[in-house]
Amino acid sequence: MIFAKTRIPVAGPSITNREVELTAEAAQTAWFQNNYVFNQRFENAVADYVDVRYAVSVPHCTAALHLALAAHGIGPGDEVIVPDVTWIASVAPVVYVGADPVLVHVLKDTWCLDPRSVEAAITPRTRAVIGVDLYGSMCDWAELRRIADQYNLILIEDAAEALGSSLHGRRAGSLGDAAAFSFHGSKTVATGEGGMFVTDNEATWKRVLFLRDHGRNPGDKYFLNSEIGFKYRMSAVQAALGCAQMERIDALITAKRQIFSWYNERIGHLQGIALNAEPPGVCNSYWMVTAILDPELGLDKFAIIAEMDKRNIDTRPFFSQLSTLPAFDDRPAAKRFLDVNHSDTRIAGYGINLPSGYHMTEELVDVVCEAFKEIIASSRA
Ligand SMILES: *Cc1c(COP(=O)(O)O)cnc(C)c1O
Repeated sequence: MIFAKTRIPVAGPSITNREVELTAEAAQTAWFQNNYVFNQRFENAVADYVDVRYAVSVPHCTAALHLALAAHGIGPGDEVIVPDVTWIASVAPVVYVGADPVLVHVLKDTWCLDPRSVEAAITPRTRAVIGVDLYGSMCDWAELRRIADQYNLILIEDAAEALGSSLHGRRAGSLGDAAAFSFHGSKTVATGEGGMFVTDNEATWKRVLFLRDHGRNPGDKYFLNSEIGFKYRMSAVQAALGCAQMERIDALITAKRQIFSWYNERIGHLQGIALNAEPPGVCNSYWMVTAILDPELGLDKFAIIAEMDKRNIDTRPFFSQLSTLPAFDDRPAAKRFLDVNHSDTRIAGYGINLPSGYHMTEELVDVVCEAFKEIIASSRA
């Protein structure tokens, strides 16, 4: 049996002396009148890279999505269309604002929102659509934009997993009316915990600045809050870490794409396996290398994970369909547009994320792929 000598983690950041240097500088200098210097720098770096006008650093992507919904006035009585297959953080903020999530299907190859399912789930109560650029893939943003315009809906882009991906030259995060990034330790750019709200709309940006600081305008020194808001600010030390990461963003994306291509060379051609898609016009930053197994192989995602675990290799399951989770037991209305026989079941039940952190060398990819092939071969035997 193939066995990794030391455990191979599934994710992990790339930290150099530059990250250490800037976080130490922030710990020493970013106080009082300088408290926002690193945040401002980080916001500018992300806005420039993504090519959007405004960016606001927040404690996590979940907060950025919460602010996006709240800033657009979405609340009780409203419905928000979301993919059934995503991390629960894409959807939880819909509930935070008192609106109702409506789950729809994803496409078989990109694992992102199926525009036809979106259109079929629109009701007079629908106010917004949240598209998720899953594992670095890109949604069909042209079609989602057409639908949003036709039905007067707000389009929110959950780009947590897609920093560095692009669609016809436009970067992930620039395709919705507002978008959100995550800098969780597992993500492409890591600040431990962290997130960014981005938009091109000045009014939305101003509303977010107000809402994220307990309902007061930037610069208010008199504690004269005019609404109940939220406390969603990122610390300077985290922002400094983000500044160092953004200085290295091109190298980080190159590394992600290199890791994917090592996997692709070794297992991309295997019968019954599909990896992350990169259709024409898309550049995929491959946050997580993901393999979908043909159910005919007789291995569901949890079986593969257990076998990899025996070989000292850490993997993750593809996100489950939210509609199947206990958290959605009491939300039958959220599931009313879903077809239980849809191909989503084959993706969510038979997909796994392979180790994709910056620690992955070609030699480690070899070990993972040999283990993976061994598991598949023994299931075929
Ligand atoms: C990681 C992630 C989030 C949430 O990010 P946090 O920074 O942990 O709040 C949201 N959506 C998707 C698709 C994610 O992968």
